[in-house]
Amino acid sequence: MEKNLNVPVTLLKGIGQEAEANLAVMGIYTIGDLLDHFPYRYEDYRLRDLMDVKHDEKITVEGKVQSEPSLVFYSKKRSRLTVRLLVGRHLIKAMFFNQPYLKKKMNINDFLTVTGKWDQHRQTITAQEATVGPYTKPAEFEPVYSVKGSLSVKNLRRYIKTAFETYGNQIEETLPEDLQEKYKLVDRQQAVRIMHFPASQDEVKHARRRFVYEEFLSFQLKMQALRKFERENSKGIPQKYNLKKVKAFIASLPFPLTNAQKRVVNEISADLKSPFRMNRLLQGDVGSGKTVVAAIALYSTITAGYQGALMVPTEILAEQHADSLDHLLSPQGVNVALLTSSVKGKARKELLSRLKSGEIDLLIGTHALIQDDVEFQKLGLVITDEQHRFGVNQRRILREKAQNPDVLFMTATPIPRTLAITAFGEMDVSIIDEMPAGRKIIETYWVKQEMLERVLGFVEKELSQGRQAYVICPLIEESDKLDVQNAIDVHDMLAIHYSGRYQVGLMHGRLRNDEKEEVMKSFSQNHTHILVSTTVVEVGVNVPNATIMVIYDAERFGLSQLHQLRGRVGRGSDQSYCILMADPKTDVGKERMKIMTETNDGFVLSEKDLELRGPGDFFGKKQSGMPEFKVADIIHDYRALEIARQDAAVLINQEDFWGNPKYSALRKSIEESGVLSGEKLD
Ligand code: ADP
Ligand code: MG
Repeated sequence: MEKNLNVPVTLLKGIGQEAEANLAVMGIYTIGDLLDHFPYRYEDYRLRDLMDVKHDEKITVEGKVQSEPSLVFYSKKRSRLTVRLLVGRHLIKAMFFNQPYLKKKMNINDFLTVTGKWDQHRQTITAQEATVGPYTKPAEFEPVYSVKGSLSVKNLRRYIKTAFETYGNQIEETLPEDLQEKYKLVDRQQAVRIMHFPASQDEVKHARRRFVYEEFLSFQLKMQALRKFERENSKGIPQKYNLKKVKAFIASLPFPLTNAQKRVVNEISADLKSPFRMNRLLQGDVGSGKTVVAAIALYSTITAGYQGALMVPTEILAEQHADSLDHLLSPQGVNVALLTSSVKGKARKELLSRLKSGEIDLLIGTHALIQDDVEFQKLGLVITDEQHRFGVNQRRILREKAQNPDVLFMTATPIPRTLAITAFGEMDVSIIDEMPAGRKIIETYWVKQEMLERVLGFVEKELSQGRQAYVICPLIEESDKLDVQNAIDVHDMLAIHYSGRYQVGLMHGRLRNDEKEEVMKSFSQNHTHILVSTTVVEVGVNVPNATIMVIYDAERFGLSQLHQLRGRVGRGSDQSYCILMADPKTDVGKERMKIMTETNDGFVLSEKDLELRGPGDFFGKKQSGMPEFKVADIIHDYRALEIARQDAAVLINQEDFWGNPKYSALRKSIEESGVLSGEKLD
C-alpha cells in the first residue's frame, strides 16, 4: 500500500522536467513528499465583522459604494483612488493605489468586495485585491506554499490537488491508535486533507496539532533510540570509586557544597558506577560552581584506578583549570598535567609517555587532548567544558574516542529546557540551579555610547580603589579584521586617556598563544589594570579583582553571551558592575538591554533570548545542533514537546515496541534516520 506514495512525482499529470527540477530543489521527489509539503500560512478570505477586527489585520469586507470615487495622481504612474463604502452599519474608506482604471468600474450602490489591510484609526482599508460585485469567494482559506525556482504557488496547488485526488486514500497512519485516541488526534489522511484544503481555521488547528505531535514524537524517538542504543552497546566502565576518599575530599573543600551541587554529584557518581557509559550534560550558570563538581567527579574516577581528562576551548582556560585543579587535587596525591600547544618536542614526548604509563592521573588541555597520538593508560572519564556548540554528531565522535570513557559535557550557557531536550535529546541532563550563598548581584547599567566620558570616570573611580576592569569590543567572527581593529582602536584611546595612571592591555584572537598568555598573566597579576578585549575572554576566565565589565556595542551580542561576559566580574567579594553601552535601533534590541539590567539569572535570560531571537539563532550561527521541524515550533508548542518526550520514553522501553506491527511506521522513521547504524544524524 504505502509504497504507492513512494513513487516519483513525475507520475502526476502536468509535471514536466522543469517542475520536476524545481520540486527536487525543494526536497520533493515522491508523491509522499509532495503531500507532506504543507502550506506555511493560509489566506483568509472570510467576511469579517469590523467590530472584531484589530488594527493592521488583513481582512476581506463586502460593502456598498456610497460616493463617487476620487482619484489623485502623484506622478504619471502613481495614483490613489478613494471611495466610501458602507459595510454593515460602518461607513469606511477603501483606498486603491496605482489602479486608476478601477474608477470607471465603480458606481454608487454597487457592491464591492475588498481584501486588504485594516487601519483602525482611519477606518480605512488599503486594498490588495478587489472585485466589483458581491462576495463570492468559494474557499474561505487559500493555502500559501513556499516555492522555489519558476514554480508558481498556483501550479503547486494544482499538483497537490491532483496528488491528493489520486493518491490521498493511500496515505497511511503513522501513529498507533491508542495515542491517537488519547490525544484526540485527527488521522493522517484527514489531517493531510485539512492542511491543503481546509474548511475552517479550527480544522487547521486540529490537523496542525496532529502533525506537531507526530513530528515531536518521531524526533524524540530517534533521540531516545540513539541514547538507548549507545548505552546498551557501549562497553562502559563500572567505576568502583573509593567513597571514603571522595567524602574526605569533599569535606576538605573550603566551603560546603550547595544542595544543587550535591544532587548533581550524586547523579554523576551513579553514572560512574553503572556499567553503562555516561553521556551527561551538566548545566550551571556562570559562578554556580561547576569546576568543583568536575574536580569531585575526576577524583572519583582516579580513586577507582582510572585516569581523567578535562577538555576546554582555549589554552588560557586550560591553564586556569590546571592551576585550580592542581591546587584542589594535588593534596590528595593526584598527579595533574597540562597539555597545550606550547608543550613541544621533548617535553611533550615525555608527558605523553607518563600519560601512557599511567603516572599522570589527570590531563587538562584543549581539543588537542583527544588527538590520536595522545594515549592514556586507562581513561575513565572525559569532561568537556563550555562545549555547547557541539552538535549531536560531534558529541558522538567524542564519545567514540578511545576506551569508552564516561563523558560529561559542562556548559555555563543555561539552555532553556525546550532547547535542551531538543538539541541534547539523546543525553541525560543535570542542572545546578542554585548559586553559592552570599553572592553579590552584579549591578548592570545600560547607557548610550555618548556617555563614554562618564563611563570612563566611573571606571577610574573603581581603578583608584585598586580594582580592575574589562572593556569588551564586539567580535562576530574571530577572523573579522574590522572587529579586531575595533579593539585596537579602543585600546589606543584608553591608553591615551589613562596614560601615566593606569596600564591598558589588549587581547584578541589574532595574538599568538604566548602573547595571549603574557597579556592574561599581566592582567591577573594586576600589572595591567584595564583589559581591552574581544570576546576571547568570554569563557571561564577568572580574575576576582576585576569588578567592572564595560561592553561596547552591546546590542550586537546575544543575551546569553552578554551574560557570559558579565560573569567575568563578580567573582570576588567586592561589588561588581556591568555597563552596557548600546544604542539599539529596534524594540527587541531595547528590550534585550533592559532585561540585562533587570536580572542576573542566566536561565531567565536564556528563556528570554530564545523568545526574542528564536531557536535558530540561539546557539549562534555555527553548528546550531538544532533540528528543524516542518510544522512544529519548539517554543510555541513546548507542551507537546514535553508530552512527546514522555511518550517516546515509554514507547522505547516497551517490550513490544520493536516487534508489534502497530509501531512499524514509528520504527521505520527511526531506522531511516540511521540512528541505530551509527550513520549521520540531523
Ligand atoms: P563556574 O560554574 O562558573 O565554573 P566555578 O566553579 O568557577 O564556577 O566557581 C565559582 C567560584 O565559586 C569559585 O571561586 C569557587 O571556588 C566558588 N564556589 C564553588 N562552589 C561553592 C560553594 N558551594 N560555596 C561557596 N563557593 C563556591
Ligand atoms: Mg567554569
